[in-house]
Amino acid sequence: MKLKIITTGWESLGFKSYKEYLSSDIWKERQIYMIRLYPYCKICNAPKRYSKLMRVKRKTKEGVRIMVWEREYFGKTLQVHHTNYSSCGDEHQEDLQVLCYGCHKNTHEVSGNDI
Ligand SMILES: [Zn+2]
Ligand SMILES: [Zn+2]
Repeated sequence: MKLKIITTGWESLGFKSYKEYLSSDIWKERQIYMIRLYPYCKICNAPKRYSKLMRVKRKTKEGVRIMVWEREYFGKTLQVHHTNYSSCGDEHQEDLQVLCYGCHKNTHEVSGNDI
């Protein structure tokens, strides 16, 4: 079942469709803003993807143990989900949820809509 969106939020911003709004800079900036406020997935608590230089143990070809600097990656890619579609284009903070890619995908599979 696809959710029917009844809103004029994106229309008042001059977009022809919800899709067009989602690929706009306005939505991109709103996502960046939300992720800056909540840099964690609301469901699984995974932090926003980041990297850190770490001192790690490695072995050389000759079997000698050495310590080297390596960049390690943590966290997940975060996305912003609409919990309430009636305000799309003019979202309130409580209509949006920061989720990681996996939890976001699951949320849509459960709700059955594709936004
Ligand atoms: Zn998650
Ligand atoms: Zn979503």
